[in-house]
Amino acid sequence: MTEERAAGVPQGEPVGIAGYVSPYPYVDRLQEKMEERLARRVPASGRFCGFCYARLRAEDTVCPFCGTATAEREPVSEIPQEVLRLYLAKQKTEARWVHGGAFFGLVVASALFIWMVIWGPGILGHPALAFGVLLLGGYVLAQLFGTFIGAQIGYRKGARRRDAMWAEFLARRDGAG
Ligand SMILES: [Zn+2]
Repeated sequence: MTEERAAGVPQGEPVGIAGYVSPYPYVDRLQEKMEERLARRVPASGRFCGFCYARLRAEDTVCPFCGTATAEREPVSEIPQEVLRLYLAKQKTEARWVHGGAFFGLVVASALFIWMVIWGPGILGHPALAFGVLLLGGYVLAQLFGTFIGAQIGYRKGARRRDAMWAEFLARRDGAG
């Protein structure tokens, strides 16, 4: 594991996060915007790129995400549900891995706690120390397995799935070209 990415930390560089390079860099950059839309933090209607569905400002004539000119493809007023679903799939997959990893970390800390209380030799068997390990260790292991390892695996799996869904969508929408 080289590049570790914490959940919630802004995705600066879309290339090579967690060892996966999206073949659609604009899709990766749109993820955060689409999550805002999914959470209904932004209005559903507006002016969106006719190719990638990025929100455009009134004065934009070229999409800042995919570079498509509005003259080339007429902007649309809403993001298709089908497109929102593929971003949701990525978000959910990543969240499942982060939460699953954190839960695993807590299970490991709990097992360690039980081991210390029952079999811990000398000071290791002291309940206060075991509690400390349960609380602090639980936190650290939840971070390690959730925020670091789980987030990376979840990112890879989620982004792959999303990109495959986008490829299918493009094929359906635009045909073979
Ligand atoms: Zn676009």
